[in-house]
Amino acid sequence: MIIVLRAGAAPAEIEGVLAHVRALGFRPHLSQGEERTVIGVIGDERGVEPDELTWLPGVEKVVPILAPYKLASRDFQAAPTVITLDNGVQIGGPAVVLMAGPCSVESRTQTFEVAEALQGLGVRVLRGGAFKPRTSPYAFQGLGEPALQILAEVRATLGMAIVTEVMGPDEVELVGRYADVLQVGARNMQNYRLLEAVGRQARPVLLKRSPSATTEEWLLAAEYILAQGNPQVMLCERGIRSYDPQLRNTFDLNVVPLLKLLTHLPVIADPSHGTGRRDLVGPMSRAALAAGADGLIVEVHAHPEAALSDGAQSLRPSDLAALLPSLHHAAAAAGRQMAESPSPTTAAQSNAGQV
Ligand code: PEP
Ligand code: MN
Repeated sequence: MIIVLRAGAAPAEIEGVLAHVRALGFRPHLSQGEERTVIGVIGDERGVEPDELTWLPGVEKVVPILAPYKLASRDFQAAPTVITLDNGVQIGGPAVVLMAGPCSVESRTQTFEVAEALQGLGVRVLRGGAFKPRTSPYAFQGLGEPALQILAEVRATLGMAIVTEVMGPDEVELVGRYADVLQVGARNMQNYRLLEAVGRQARPVLLKRSPSATTEEWLLAAEYILAQGNPQVMLCERGIRSYDPQLRNTFDLNVVPLLKLLTHLPVIADPSHGTGRRDLVGPMSRAALAAGADGLIVEVHAHPEAALSDGAQSLRPSDLAALLPSLHHAAAAAGRQMAESPSPTTAAQSNAGQV
């Protein structure tokens, strides 16, 4: 259930409610929005009388949250969650954000080549894998910590925020030392120990959807992170498994506007894994933005034909440059702007010949 505080409730009243909730054996979750302050009483609510809470000083009402996910729901928090990265990029705010980079960090040269090209296009969030969850144990598994060091160097020299995957609870501390955003990959969406571990640290988390997860299972996975006290979670649709072998995945764009109704968490779309094909990434990027996504993750590699993973779905920087103007239009179709500057036309013109 949630306890809605009266507008203008005094700090001492809020503290009093928090203390009461703790005394009942719950860990209260405080959400202080501009319009209202809400305290989530989450857990096994049997034995708790909502009436008893209604009479506490400062309380306006007590409302049940009917959805099985609580902290992730719009009932708990009506206003969108906005995540601000250290370099100032905001995810979930008025502007949509483009995150791009190679599937895997393969070398310092490869990473800087693509990062510099992306920076020239105005991209301020670099996504690259150091630990790779590969279907085959014989496939390239990522460079591990040396890749994190390369990403940290990109961060320091180019001012880009870094998104990178963490595969296990024991690696959270290590990856958290280098990354701005910890990615939990599709295969790990229901690794509850990992979800709890990223919930206990302070970095934002990008939670990819499992290829077989329902929307509810996905939101409950997000709930594991939120319940540990980390409110900075974004959801990433990356395609689900269907009966159609034609494409790598079925990119579920229904879920984008659906999630915007169900949750306040930012919704990101990954058309690279969603389709598995470079020539479909452009149209589906536009579609995702038009559907209301708060951002995109697009795989980009300066030499996709030589990529150690996911080359077939990776754009070249020049492909992205050519795509950018239409992404601005797609964002505008959803009433949004893109965070990336300079203007795409200028960036496309100045970079098209260089990459
Ligand atoms: C990736 O982002 O490179 C990746 C492995 O994605 P997913 O977990 O969605 O398969
Ligand atoms: Mn990939």
